[in-house]
Amino acid sequence: MRCLIVATGNPGKVEEMSAYLTDANWELKLKPAELDIEETGATFLENAALKASQVAIATGEWAIADDSGLQVDALGGAPGLYSARYGNSDGDRIARLLREMTGQTDRRAQFVCAVAIARPDGSIACQTEGICPGEIASAPAGAGGFGYDPIFYVPEQGMTYAEMPPELKHRVSHRGLAFATLLPQLERLSKELTA
Ligand code: IMP
Repeated sequence: MRCLIVATGNPGKVEEMSAYLTDANWELKLKPAELDIEETGATFLENAALKASQVAIATGEWAIADDSGLQVDALGGAPGLYSARYGNSDGDRIARLLREMTGQTDRRAQFVCAVAIARPDGSIACQTEGICPGEIASAPAGAGGFGYDPIFYVPEQGMTYAEMPPELKHRVSHRGLAFATLLPQLERLSKELTA
């Protein structure tokens, strides 16, 4: 089984990605702690690609990275790349977003997840993006998930991310969609490498 280094310092992310890639013949491993990569890209895809590429070059192994966030139409795409830094806690970030949306009738938003895989020389072997359209709810609903989940309402499912059973969010979310597209690409890659 080939090794894929996950460009994150968060062991939870390795577990999460492994769950999406159970059918792929790759063993996912956390990147070395001393390796710090700055997210300087202008898009989610650029950030995923630069993280995967730099970790691949530094370790000499295949590497995978993702980058995701919430874009709100009425706020010109904010918080976007700054989704994680929009406040000091999930509660702060949700409160800020709801405050900025006060009186706003256009509630459209989308969650985006970009994933990139780099070869050991740093070149990008595949990249995908998953997008889940939704709306910013007027108040938090649901207790599941993390981050902005309680205020991200998905009309097609009639509930927020936080109200979804985990397997439903796994399937319909931006991350689920990105990994569903990535999986066949990764399988093709495995076949090419063993051919
Ligand atoms: P990351 O790039 O996956 O670390 O995500 C960046 C930030 O986007 C997180 O800190 C969250 O604030 C937000 N985010 C990404 N995905 C989700 C999600 O599925 N639910 C809620 N918030 C999310």
